[in-house]
Amino acid sequence: MFKINDNYLKLPGSYLFSTIAKKVAAYIEANPDAKIIRLGIGDVTQPIAPAIIEKLHGAVDEMGHAETFHGYAPDLGYAFLRDTIAKNDYQDRGCDISSDEIFVSDGAKCDCSNIQEIFSLDNKIAVCDPVYPVYVDSNVMAGRAGDYDAATERFTNVIYMPCTAENNFTPELPKETPDLIYLCFPNNPTGAMVSKAELQKWVDYANKVGAIILYDAAYEAYISEKDIPHSIYECEGARTCAIEMRSFSKNAGFTGMRLGFTVIPKDIKSGDVTLHSLWARRHGTKYNGAPYIIQRAGEAVYSPEGKAQLKEQVAYYMKNAKVIYDGLKGAGYTVSGGVNAPYIWLKTPGNMTSWEFFDHLLADANVVGTPGSGFGPSGEGYFRLTAFGTYENTVEAVERIKKL
Ligand SMILES: *Cc1c(COP(=O)(O)O)cnc(C)c1O
Repeated sequence: MFKINDNYLKLPGSYLFSTIAKKVAAYIEANPDAKIIRLGIGDVTQPIAPAIIEKLHGAVDEMGHAETFHGYAPDLGYAFLRDTIAKNDYQDRGCDISSDEIFVSDGAKCDCSNIQEIFSLDNKIAVCDPVYPVYVDSNVMAGRAGDYDAATERFTNVIYMPCTAENNFTPELPKETPDLIYLCFPNNPTGAMVSKAELQKWVDYANKVGAIILYDAAYEAYISEKDIPHSIYECEGARTCAIEMRSFSKNAGFTGMRLGFTVIPKDIKSGDVTLHSLWARRHGTKYNGAPYIIQRAGEAVYSPEGKAQLKEQVAYYMKNAKVIYDGLKGAGYTVSGGVNAPYIWLKTPGNMTSWEFFDHLLADANVVGTPGSGFGPSGEGYFRLTAFGTYENTVEAVERIKKL
């Protein structure tokens, strides 16, 4: 008789964005004429940049000829892409990372959720609260998070690091010592960022207590301020304690194309076993590589034309971020984020809960956002709006919110 993995039953409710989609669908069914503007899920709206499209076309044509056809990709990624990433994202920034420490994948979500597999089940994780839900949920499914306590809205075996207005939405070193620390900067959902000196504290701490930092840098391209680290490997000592995850989704619009990568320096060891070797083994067994044509498209992200076009794309979204930030601030809302990340984090007015504000915004402004409480208990009373819409929709949404 089969038995299910009942860790799945410990997950409260459905995935945040499924719940939102259901609520929006129900509203549209009841109000078919409503012009809904979606500033909820973090999906991009701008088309793939021309330099990337051109490269894609070329790669597609290659697949049609025996001499240039490509079958299974090398499971860790093609050298042309890994070399390009190592040079542009790391070596040019003074980070000591080599191309054979880069594992190409079909996105950062799978890497963020799968990486826990190479660690023992008795490791204790620490997460920012609020944060991208994938870190906690993947550990719940694995059976590492304990049980969900409905009273506190927390899992019993997870260390939550509250990120609130009092600490500028950046975590403090935890009192209880974790084994695995998930950090996401620029942060989703708050848009908060840490300085290099602050991040250095985390690296020093991890090295001191023997913890691993799982650093999600999906929004690296949105960093606009100086003295903000683009990679955790800008910090001294990160090669012995940090794994970094990156995505092509937010900087190049690959949400529907799928490409990302994880960096595991060979210096991270448990005894004489490297984490690098474990992840390579996992990749080899469970993954058959990102598509050739998509890896070629990824290469074009780093070409001079690609870089210039994507800089414009990021600037387009950040202009939206400014429209939302300035608009809501002017209307009396308490807002943060939006400077080094495409997310604006706002305090709900009149002590509404996050979901109350969601319903209010949907019904009275026809704008969809994301309830802060969906990202963790400390997100209650907050709300996330994304800058990933079109400029016109963003302006219109802000006008509607101002009129509420
Ligand atoms: C969007 C996002 C990802 C997922 O990126 P994909 O490469 O599309 O899977 C990972 N981490 C964070 C924090 C994100 O917001």
